[in-house]
Amino acid sequence: MRFEIVTLFPELFDVLRTGLLGKAQDAGAIDVHAITPREFTTDRHRTVDDSPYGGGSGMVLMPGPFAATLDHLDEARAGNPTHRVLLTPQGTRFSQAHAQRFSDLECLTLLCGRYEGFDERIRGLVDEEVSLGDFVLLGGEAAALALIEATARLLPGVLGNEESAADESHAESLLEYPQYTRPEEFRGQKVPEVLRSGNHAAIARWRRKESLRRTLERRPDLLEEADLSKEDRVLLKEINDEA
Ligand code: SAM
Repeated sequence: MRFEIVTLFPELFDVLRTGLLGKAQDAGAIDVHAITPREFTTDRHRTVDDSPYGGGSGMVLMPGPFAATLDHLDEARAGNPTHRVLLTPQGTRFSQAHAQRFSDLECLTLLCGRYEGFDERIRGLVDEEVSLGDFVLLGGEAAALALIEATARLLPGVLGNEESAADESHAESLLEYPQYTRPEEFRGQKVPEVLRSGNHAAIARWRRKESLRRTLERRPDLLEEADLSKEDRVLLKEINDEA
C-alpha cells in the first residue's frame, strides 16, 4: 500500500523507517512518500501561507501549493486512484473502523495542516476529513503518523502474525483480555492458573470472558456496537452475577 503525505515537514516521516514499518518498507509491503507543498510554489520565498481574509491572528495555508502538490502526486501515480484525507480537529474522530477501511485501499493521501489551518477551498480537494481526537495539535503530522501506523499494521505481512491484530482491542469492538508473560509470580501477583493449564478451550473461554469484563468496566459504550454471540451473553451474565 502506498502512503502519500502532503506536509510542510516531510522529515518528520523519517521515523517510519524504524521498527516493523521500516521492515515493511524494505519488503515493499508499504511505500511512504512525504512531499512538501513548498516545492510547488512560484515565489522566491516558497510561500505556502498568508494572512486570513477578514483579519484575525495567524496564517492560513493557501490552496494553490496544496492543489499543485496533489496534481503532481496524481501524475506520478499515472492515473491510479487514491483516497484523500485531510487531517483536522473538525473531522470525524479516527477509529479502528477507519484503519480497517483504509487498509483495503491501494493508496492513501494525507494532507497535514499547520498554523491556523487550511483555506476552506482545500477541503474541496479531499474525500474526507479525519480528526485524531478532540484536542488541537500544532500540525497534522502526529495525526497522520498515528493513522499510518494503525492502518499499515493491518496489512498482510506487516505484523508477521496476522492473528495478533485480529485478537486485539477494538478489532471486534471489544478491549483485549489481560496478557501475562514470565515470571509466573511477580511481587506477589500470580499468573492466573487457567493460562498455565494447557487447556486450550478453557483458556479461550477465560480470555473471551475477561475481554468482555474489561470492555464492560472500561468502555461499556463499545459493547453496544459489538456483535455478541449467545455464549458471550452467558459470559456477561456470569460477570454480572459475580459483581
Ligand atoms: N484553526 C484550526 C481549527 O480550529 O480547526 C486548527 C489548526 S491546527 C493549530 C493546525 C493543523 O494541525 C490543522 O490544520 C490540522 O491539520 C492539524 N491538527 C490539529 N489538531 C488536530 C487533530 N485533533 N486531528 C487531526 N489534525 C489536527
